[in-house]
Amino acid sequence: MIKRFFHYFNWVSKQAHCLAKHLIGSVVLIGCFCSFPGFGQQAEFPDTAILIENVNIFDGKKDAIKANYHVLIVNQLIKKISDKKIPYQGDALKINGQGFTLMPGLIESHGHLAIVDSLPNLKHHYDWVDIGVRQAAMAKSWLLDGFTTIRDVGGPTMGLKRSIDAGIVPGPRIYPSGAFISQTSGHGDMRERSDRHPYLDGAIDETMQRLGYYYIADGVPQVLAATRNNLRNGATQIKIMAGGGNGSEFDPIDSLQFRPEEIKAIVNAAKDWDTYVTAHVFYPDQINRFIDAGGMSIEHAPAIDELTMKKVVNKGVFVAMQMNGLSKELRDSPFNPPYAKAGIIEIQNDSKNFVKLVKKYRPKMVFATDALGDIDTQMKQRRFELYERARIFGNFETLKSATSVGGELMQLTNRRNPYKLGKLGVVEEGAYADLLIVAGNPLADISLLGANKQWHDAQPPESIDTIKVIIKDGQIIKSRLRNGHAND
Ligand SMILES: [Zn+2]
Repeated sequence: MIKRFFHYFNWVSKQAHCLAKHLIGSVVLIGCFCSFPGFGQQAEFPDTAILIENVNIFDGKKDAIKANYHVLIVNQLIKKISDKKIPYQGDALKINGQGFTLMPGLIESHGHLAIVDSLPNLKHHYDWVDIGVRQAAMAKSWLLDGFTTIRDVGGPTMGLKRSIDAGIVPGPRIYPSGAFISQTSGHGDMRERSDRHPYLDGAIDETMQRLGYYYIADGVPQVLAATRNNLRNGATQIKIMAGGGNGSEFDPIDSLQFRPEEIKAIVNAAKDWDTYVTAHVFYPDQINRFIDAGGMSIEHAPAIDELTMKKVVNKGVFVAMQMNGLSKELRDSPFNPPYAKAGIIEIQNDSKNFVKLVKKYRPKMVFATDALGDIDTQMKQRRFELYERARIFGNFETLKSATSVGGELMQLTNRRNPYKLGKLGVVEEGAYADLLIVAGNPLADISLLGANKQWHDAQPPESIDTIKVIIKDGQIIKSRLRNGHAND
């Protein structure tokens, strides 16, 4: 608790400092505008710089550690990386990295920050204020586990993203999808048996729908409207449900969802905004229908077959699969709703080739937890996912998927990318300064990043002491290392 407060205090002081600086900036700007009719005068803002010395670097791309480096951050970006001391004359904060490892901040590519509790609890006990407050706390908890970017693939998180970007609350960068787009009785249709249909019965009385978690849309005009409404509200990519799922009660998991012409319409409407569509899919026929229509990212896809995997690789489609989804821990979890159990067993039995095919064809795999539930539940799930993926694919593949490959996926948003100044998920000059300093080598020991063998049985999670420093957007979120000034 005290530690949590300390983080918050650090963050608040940083924000206060920033705010003061920006306020001073505005005063200068207003002064210029009043005194010079010529407009176009630029106020001079001092740079904010951080000089990190004596670190080893994992760059997010290569299975290697570069020893004894120094890194200069100016404002939001990595300005210089060198094996020689970097002289800096300005007012830089200096961090002695003590030979620890500097690496990119982690990227979660399948998050649900707005699903802050079980679906029955969300439906019955929450209004939009509960959800807003809790998703802000959720975002902070992801950030403090080292996740500096999250692609949110369903739920009302656009307002959270705007609040984080404005510096009002701490959290990762968010690439929001907005409401899931689902056909009637698709995986995103969360109505109970007797809830009315929004169009056939003319009423939206289901809570999750009213709160903006999903749109039910059938036929080309409706799917176009749903896509465009998400884009209007700030979605950076579109998420659709193109096959059945376990968390929904009225769609068989093998069902094909959306007709090809509906998917094509959604993909083209997204392309018109220069972005892409991702889909929930399990089985080859669902995956093929979706990627044949132009889909560029598939969520889950555990039962993929060899021919489809080849097509995925040829088309450069990204795969966001959760290894927790194939685990014994999920199958035996006491938290599965009764209607989901049979489906979980069925899909796990149908997914026996997934790992073999990934190892053989090496698709672009991103780190993707699909964590749902309250703060502690999501924390346990992401730490278990780190452990489970590393057990199956190794530490390097897991870290690459959670850094550089995730960063590459975010770039599919093209002109809708809210963070265009630099790359994400890599340590290189010109990239965003979203960085961690870890006490040890995470390529050798992934538990340094919180990876945990326990999932449901895990102890109440603590903050990860081995993550010594978290920097996002060139701002220090957490620091447990000795700081000084560059010219001390
Ligand atoms: Zn999901």
